[in-house]
Amino acid sequence: MTRSSRGRPRSSDRATSVRAADNGRADPEIVQATPRQQRWPDWLVVRGAREHNLKGSTVRLPHRSLVVFTGVSGSGKSTLAFDTIYAEAQRRQVQSMSAFARSFLEELDKPDADALEGLCPAVALDDRTLPSNPRSTVGTITDVYDLLRVLYSRAGEPHCTSCGDRLRFDGGWLCPRGDVELGPSMTSRGFSFNSAYGACVECHGLGTEPHVDLDLVVPDPERSLAGGALAAWRDPSTGAELTNALTVAGQLGVDVEAPWRTLPAAAHRALLTGEGVPQADETTGRVARQQRFQAVVPWLLRRYHEAYLTGSRDRAAAFIRHRPCAACGGARLNSRQRAVLLRHPTRGGVGIAQVCAMTVSDALRFFEELDADPPRRELTSRVLEEITTRLRHLADVGLDHLTLDRATPTLSRGEVQRLRLAQHLGTELFGLLFVLDEPTTGLHPADVERLLVALRRLRDQGNSVLVIEHDDQVVRAADWVVDLGPGAGEEGGRILHSGSVGALLDDGRSLTGGYLTGRLSVGARRGTIPEGVAWLEVRGARAHNLADLDVGFPLGCFTVVTGVSGSGKSTLVDHILYRTLARALHDEPVVPGTHDGIDGLELVDRAVRVEQSPIGRSPRSNAATYTGAFDAIRAAFARTDDARERGFKAGRFSFNSPGGRCENCAGEGSIRIDMRFLPDVYAPCQTCLGSRYLATTLEVRYSGLTIAEVLELAVDAALELFAESEPARRPLQALADVGLGYLRLGQPAPTLSAGEAQRVKLAAELSRGGSRTLYLLDEPTSGLHPHDIGRLLQVLHGLVDNGNTVVAVEHHVSVVASADWIIELGPGAGTRGGRLVCCGTPEQVVGTGHSLIGQHVRRELERRSP
Ligand code: ADP
Ligand code: ADP
Ligand code: ZN
Ligand code: ZN
Repeated sequence: MTRSSRGRPRSSDRATSVRAADNGRADPEIVQATPRQQRWPDWLVVRGAREHNLKGSTVRLPHRSLVVFTGVSGSGKSTLAFDTIYAEAQRRQVQSMSAFARSFLEELDKPDADALEGLCPAVALDDRTLPSNPRSTVGTITDVYDLLRVLYSRAGEPHCTSCGDRLRFDGGWLCPRGDVELGPSMTSRGFSFNSAYGACVECHGLGTEPHVDLDLVVPDPERSLAGGALAAWRDPSTGAELTNALTVAGQLGVDVEAPWRTLPAAAHRALLTGEGVPQADETTGRVARQQRFQAVVPWLLRRYHEAYLTGSRDRAAAFIRHRPCAACGGARLNSRQRAVLLRHPTRGGVGIAQVCAMTVSDALRFFEELDADPPRRELTSRVLEEITTRLRHLADVGLDHLTLDRATPTLSRGEVQRLRLAQHLGTELFGLLFVLDEPTTGLHPADVERLLVALRRLRDQGNSVLVIEHDDQVVRAADWVVDLGPGAGEEGGRILHSGSVGALLDDGRSLTGGYLTGRLSVGARRGTIPEGVAWLEVRGARAHNLADLDVGFPLGCFTVVTGVSGSGKSTLVDHILYRTLARALHDEPVVPGTHDGIDGLELVDRAVRVEQSPIGRSPRSNAATYTGAFDAIRAAFARTDDARERGFKAGRFSFNSPGGRCENCAGEGSIRIDMRFLPDVYAPCQTCLGSRYLATTLEVRYSGLTIAEVLELAVDAALELFAESEPARRPLQALADVGLGYLRLGQPAPTLSAGEAQRVKLAAELSRGGSRTLYLLDEPTSGLHPHDIGRLLQVLHGLVDNGNTVVAVEHHVSVVASADWIIELGPGAGTRGGRLVCCGTPEQVVGTGHSLIGQHVRRELERRSP
């Protein structure tokens, strides 16, 4: 049986996403009948679990408890929690609903286990289940916006959009003083920015409008027009546009070889916006050409709006920033709906969009004050109660820094999981099984306790909560811990412990217990900054909440950027530092966040972002192809006598191009079955029986193995087999060095876990060698057991020792304490963050009184050198 991509049924939990709000009251008879008729099982039992690397174990988990899964990366935690328990629960749910799905599910999607007993409906709170639509906001996704619409339609007071007067409208919505003809629609639909009644006519409810950033169009004013001053027209594909521009410039009498800076303002305007381009001179016969001239700004905007040409759209997007829509100021609604105000006891009249611009904590205060003196109490008290309850749930899971109008696609992975958690805190459903994958991701140690309160509440509501987690505080808070291991892949998959935390801590042989008690620690070096080191200096960083910061990153060192969630770390490191480098060094079409400049860019040759994202979405990609080991392996096959006799070249052994591969599955070994509303499912190819190759290709053997058999080898075994071939050995050794010796060469990329994908990327970098590269990592430890973190740190330090620079956004104290340089942003989130709290070596930060992370770092340093 093969499973869906990554096996993880990341589809939504629509089967159970019943909304509690507005469902009316349940019939008391039905509610009472349930417990009498049905016995609630106390245990969830999985017998003979064999999915992926699981070794046929049986495990019993108490229901209505907080159960935490631990174990090194690749040991089988997700396989047990998601691919076995959740997948089976979902399979049974769907089975009871759809005949179409049933026919496939029975055959293909049954997790490999002898039996699952005591299963209940399950919900996965993961990050792939939120809409990626920019119209989806924190407010809409939590239903707070729907409730606000109801509130405003019942208690809002329309005002005239021209004179500002209220409720003077006659029957035809005509204000006697102004001449506004149409009044607002006082229905809840009228306040929807996704409806024609409500949306701003300029931005159609998006709230933003694209504008061409002239600093991006002319990045270097010292260049001449002929020398490529207009960056948008440097590419050979835009030769005609440049020629037209040069013609127009010639007609304006400007020197096309002179620096752009020195051209007269009129020429700048003509070329950029088209203003004052000379009329066509009919006598010279240049009419046609000039009529076609389009200045760079309108040209870019037109391309940007031509959504069907995605390639040219993306290139145009590299010069475009989004700013709040001029017509609605970002409110997304038209002027009539915006002029409906809610009377607040202390703040006067407030529009719906102003409420949405508040952070969760500000909105909470706003509604608590309003609650004391609500407008039209009889109609609104229930709605107000619902709104405040939802806001409190958001605050409870540590999301009080988000504004209600924040678009959900811009949220981080951890934020999305916590948002989903907050949604479920509100439903008061019980008897469900919740499965979470590292909800602490992105959460500062100081905020973990609040998350725990939320998880416990879900449990106390009568639900079972399964969490994959490495965080010390969460593991210690568990009612029950399942520890998998001992190693990863084939060396893992056993249940080492299933029981109380106390017993795990007492187990002297347990790695997990060892790290929790401090018997083991993530070894690391002390941070130092060498004399005379060069710096990358970011000046005037102002994107999002950053407060005009100047921050330096020492080159050839390991820097960690830390601070509470929402303090501005990703904005600084990703939006400003990475995007500027990617644009300057690799011409990537990304738009950096606002800042004045970065000094020292010339000291960096490459910028590489090492994410935990998959190394490929196609089953054709794997660790061997990604690191280049497979090229060398194919060459080694081509050198065998078998291959020479048959005239097979290296290309014959590829499964990515035609020749030697099976064409029925195009070398994938499996056939994708579209499940419509479920994740895709893969079935083995009937022609090659999953081997990916033609029978003739498999006649060739290297040391007795076919190419298909080599793809089945673990890295360690392949390393022995190809010890003689340096080009194959180097990437394989790098894979072993990052702790992936157990990985099968041909394991399809989409099935690698996040931590595995990240380490494959690092291995590719290690085997590539070289220096003067800047590596950026966003929370590299998420998904990693402390044991893996130690290994990761060794790899990162190795990169630094070779003269590279590593910058990581990270909360994990072991990592922070092993940095050469720490940058702490904060002190709070959103508008209360964005400042530099402190920076320095670990010792210096420990000595800084106001550092939040300092006390944690001190404890870590003391632990290492008692
Ligand atoms: P963990 O969650 O503990 O990091 P996983 O459950 O993701 O570990 O993985 C356990 C092992 O199973 C790993 O070796 C992983 O590469 C492998 N694996 C995971 N998903 C698949 C899959 N869909 N097909 C084959 N192997 C898989
Ligand atoms: P961190 O990485 O420290 O968690 P971020 O840099 O993601 O913090 O966020 C800093 C602030 O900027 C927060 O208030 C956040 O809500 C806001 N922010 C982040 N990304 C965006 C975005 N794409 N659009 C609008 N605001 C954003
Ligand atoms: Zn607008
Ligand atoms: Zn095939």
